[in-house]
Amino acid sequence: MTSFKSLTVCLDMCGCPNRCAHCWLGAVPNGSLTTDDLRFVAEQFRPFTSSLEVADWYREPDFHDDYKERWELCAALSDRQTPHFELISYWRAVRDSTYLDWIKSQGVRTAQLTFFGGEALTDRYVSRRGAYRELVETAGLLLEKEIAPRIQVFVNKETLPELPLVERMIEELRLPERCAAFGGAFSAFVHAGSCDGENEKHYGIWVTPEDLEKIPPLLAQSTLRHFGEKTLPDVFGETESALCARLSEDGSTQNYVEDAPVFYVDRNFDVYPNITAPAPFWRLGNLRTDGAEAVLRTYLDSASPAQHAALTVPVREFVRAYGNPDSERLFGQSDYLEFLLNRWCRERS
Ligand code: SF4
Repeated sequence: MTSFKSLTVCLDMCGCPNRCAHCWLGAVPNGSLTTDDLRFVAEQFRPFTSSLEVADWYREPDFHDDYKERWELCAALSDRQTPHFELISYWRAVRDSTYLDWIKSQGVRTAQLTFFGGEALTDRYVSRRGAYRELVETAGLLLEKEIAPRIQVFVNKETLPELPLVERMIEELRLPERCAAFGGAFSAFVHAGSCDGENEKHYGIWVTPEDLEKIPPLLAQSTLRHFGEKTLPDVFGETESALCARLSEDGSTQNYVEDAPVFYVDRNFDVYPNITAPAPFWRLGNLRTDGAEAVLRTYLDSASPAQHAALTVPVREFVRAYGNPDSERLFGQSDYLEFLLNRWCRERS
């Protein structure tokens, strides 16, 4: 069995307070795994790398009340630990007065907050009443701690008309000025996300080129700065018709095996590679019943239905089967190929 250069494993121990309409990880029930389960997962993968990283979440960070202890345990079980991401729990931020001090003690200086438009639409997309107010309250709490809020907005034909409400919120809260007052870097960006998981249901209202002209100036400029791009099409990708034309003769295949993989372990110990939505056809096996060696063998052999299809079916076949040559929806190429691959596998499972 190969020893991986590094291996990262993320265990969905207690899930997420939200059920976002765009969530690429899917709308699944929360689990209630224990720290012994976390130790078990780490022990399973330990023999297969000398550079292991273990995380106790892949949906909502710091959702469990023992988040500080679990962070320490993950560090103890890991050879290396990525510093805390800019992803935080605004659910916790408004309920736990010690949380943002702890976040700051982890070195976090920018924290991401996700909106979908104004209050009603954001609450609907998060599937939780009060989410918008919690987001706005968290922005203020972050500023008090001199942590810069970073505003992310998911855009489709339904959320697009509400982008001016997001701009207004940014202006009313004076986020750029208040960040500048402590030397923080305010940023905001819009994007469509990948068309998988729950977000695949938004294919019908996916962004097309004329929508990009409707993105208001502040958000358009800050989006370009955030992604380091010159134009919005650079951010949103090509039209589906252009992708179909370019890829309909493409005979290449896709190998998703890498030397430094990231794996997701769900509340039932099923394991998935971190490529796209954790659908059944990406499942590598179960840690309790199969063990890590069998799971990793499935991964290395591309033996899950999705990896097998990606490795053996030329790109042109996916495009000819499920591409829409009349569509002006905008996609990045790799996201688009995963969208087609998921459709291919779903139809055959
Ligand atoms: S997108 Fe994030 S916050 Fe929303 S449901 Fe998915 S994991 Fe939870």
